[in-house]
Amino acid sequence: MTKNLSRYRRDSGARISSNDDTQRLIAASQRLAAEVTRMFGPEPDIADRHYWLETMVNHVPDYIYAKDLEGRFLIANQATATENGFREAHEIIGKTDFDIHTPENARHFKEAERRVIETGEPMFGIEELNAVSRDERWLMTSKVPLRDKQGTTIGVVGISRDITDRKRAERLLLGQARLLELIATSTPLPDFFNELILMIEAHLPGIIGSILLLSPDKKHLLTGAAPGLDIAYCAAIHGVAIGPKAGSCGTAAFRGEPVFVCDIQSDPLWEDYAGMVRPLGYRSCWSMPILSYQGQVLGTFALYSHQPGMPSADQTDLISMAAHLAGIAIERRQAEERIQFMAHHDALTGLPNRALFDGRVASALEQARVTGQWVALAFLDLDNFKLINDTLGHHAGDELLRVVAGRMLACVRKSDMIVRVGGDEFIILLNSLPPDNSVMLSRLEAIRAAIGAPVVLAGRSLQVSCSMGVVCYPEHGESASELLANADSAMYRAKEVGRNNLQVFDAQMAAKAHERLRRHEELHDAVACGEFVLHYQPQMNLKTGRIFAAESLLRWQHPERGLISPGDFIPLAEETGLIVPIGEWVLNEACRQNKAWQDAGLPPIVVSVNVSARQFKERNWVSKVAEALEESGLEACYLELELTESLIMQDVASAVATMHELEALGVHLAIDDFGTGYSSLSALKRFPVRRLKIDRSFVQDIPGDADDRAITGAIISLAQKLQMQVIAEGVETQEQVDFLRESGCDDIQGYFFSRPVGSAAFVSLLAG
Ligand code: C2E
Ligand code: MG
Ligand code: MG
Repeated sequence: MTKNLSRYRRDSGARISSNDDTQRLIAASQRLAAEVTRMFGPEPDIADRHYWLETMVNHVPDYIYAKDLEGRFLIANQATATENGFREAHEIIGKTDFDIHTPENARHFKEAERRVIETGEPMFGIEELNAVSRDERWLMTSKVPLRDKQGTTIGVVGISRDITDRKRAERLLLGQARLLELIATSTPLPDFFNELILMIEAHLPGIIGSILLLSPDKKHLLTGAAPGLDIAYCAAIHGVAIGPKAGSCGTAAFRGEPVFVCDIQSDPLWEDYAGMVRPLGYRSCWSMPILSYQGQVLGTFALYSHQPGMPSADQTDLISMAAHLAGIAIERRQAEERIQFMAHHDALTGLPNRALFDGRVASALEQARVTGQWVALAFLDLDNFKLINDTLGHHAGDELLRVVAGRMLACVRKSDMIVRVGGDEFIILLNSLPPDNSVMLSRLEAIRAAIGAPVVLAGRSLQVSCSMGVVCYPEHGESASELLANADSAMYRAKEVGRNNLQVFDAQMAAKAHERLRRHEELHDAVACGEFVLHYQPQMNLKTGRIFAAESLLRWQHPERGLISPGDFIPLAEETGLIVPIGEWVLNEACRQNKAWQDAGLPPIVVSVNVSARQFKERNWVSKVAEALEESGLEACYLELELTESLIMQDVASAVATMHELEALGVHLAIDDFGTGYSSLSALKRFPVRRLKIDRSFVQDIPGDADDRAITGAIISLAQKLQMQVIAEGVETQEQVDFLRESGCDDIQGYFFSRPVGSAAFVSLLAG
């Protein structure tokens, strides 16, 4: 019943508009007065004036009236009479509001008038709700006391204007704002749709709204919301196929344009459904497709009416507005879902990411604690992924990751989980395993086998293998973090034994991991305490027999363990990144030492420094080299940097660029351990390299081994063809020297001539 109550509202907005209305009234009456003057001349008599006044008042569309103290109409204009259901203005005279309106409305009007009469104060611009019939009417009313010649109040004069249209427009705006707010605050879609429909229904009494959503396969319509529509009917049309003749909504979704059906019972589009609708009495149905920003159909917004007919222009606007708002809400929800998905999934493979995984592991362990079942966690790393990426390109690499992800998914159950945690690293979580290794292992081996099946990438068929480090709960740890750390150790072991295998964690690995950590800390301290020294191994020219260069070789002077070879700590230093500060020290020390020998008057020689991949990739590497030269005062031509083929092949283009920058400084470059890497001959041509160093492994078995003789000979002639110098490493015997000399090798380095020695011993070698 509250809807029927008159309401008062005084606000500045209403008063401003009431002033506007007054201005318009004045203008209209002036026009009328001018007209009257034109017709009757300038000096009319009293009767004329009365007549004109009456004519004027009856012309005005606003309701003008006067009432006595009891609320009886004394006068009323034609608009007032018509509005209240009378034909002639005089018919209303003597009636009260109680004869015309509902008792509730009448009481409200009377109450307002009583106040004006008692206080003698006029009321301007009051908004009143008058619920005549089904339609509500809003009036803006001013009431002033009606006084006789003595000034005694004898009633009220009222003037009201119908502001229903404005009120409805205002309410629509408020409704829209509220709906947009609901969208902004991520209200669940069904709630939003209900609110939207209720707003439209409040605006269009007797009309029923419905929202249907296009199914993911884009072929059917699913119920979105229809709070006022028959429930059984909603259930019946849920899942209806869209098509060229599928009622209003199915057709609108199919065509992507509005379909307004005037009479369901006779329209061919409704032929298949008219029977179902007949008992419900829906006669017209106007459906508008809900479109995305890009114009794709997302669903439909429809209005049903019990009357046949087409929507008015206003109604069509409302339908469009509703469909538009529904579209915004749906798209916003889709965007939110996408963001949500992206936050928890890897964009490339669509697999969950670490964030989602952490939560899942916790609950898997929780569950296993209760059921006594096992949970397996496996770290998985593709072998040589980097090589594939570098040689076949990133697209092929991405494709491989997608293929691998798909194959893994096909091997696990819904309750299991596979996450991508890094480039080519995955974690597999297997749930609800029987408390026994065998099932876990057979399932993981099945994944390895699936990954190992041939795959076609960039037009080439190839096979990839993977390494796995495996742990299971409760065998290998209580908490997720403990299990993951142990899986990491198992993975380390799998790589250590040559990849393409699966390692289950054991206590020995834990000890090793512990040892690795301890050694890392020790190495870290060694950098800080300056526990490194350089030894130098001379390089001799075979023709002259003279030392022309020395390779600097790093040693760790360990306080307890004595002198440690680089092979025992460089891999760890590379793994942990400590190689960067260590390598920097080597570079500076080698330059300083070489300059010191020159300053001491020894014959100038080249010092060569080994560079690790990690160092070479440092952004400021070239400037570090320049600084070392600058600080030591060594001329660039006395410094040679040894790069390995694998270092260069990691990223040929950027390696070549860096090599050119180094060349521009004036330093020389050599390729160390040549023959063991994968450098292609065509790439080799582009390297600004002065020297190839034949790897020790080829020199070792010459002249006995025919293959090694052939390889060594080939490298020498290749170097000659490319106009590079060539030096053989690890030369230990006279036979090796003889063979190398005959083959045209320029230089040698090895125990045959000298082992690497400390700087003092090297001075004697050089002086000798
Ligand atoms: P490399 O650069 O190929 O160095 C040559 C290695 O062969 C040295 O081992 C040297 O002592 C050894 N060698 C030389 N002549 C003979 C020989 O006639 N017979 C045998 N059996 N071996 C010989 P070392 O000093 O143990 O160094 C091993 C590797 O450690 C080096 O191989 C190099 O790759 C790396 N390394 C050494 N110093 C550094 C450094 O300052 N920075 C970096 N990043 N790596 C270094
Ligand atoms: Mg070397
Ligand atoms: Mg070497």
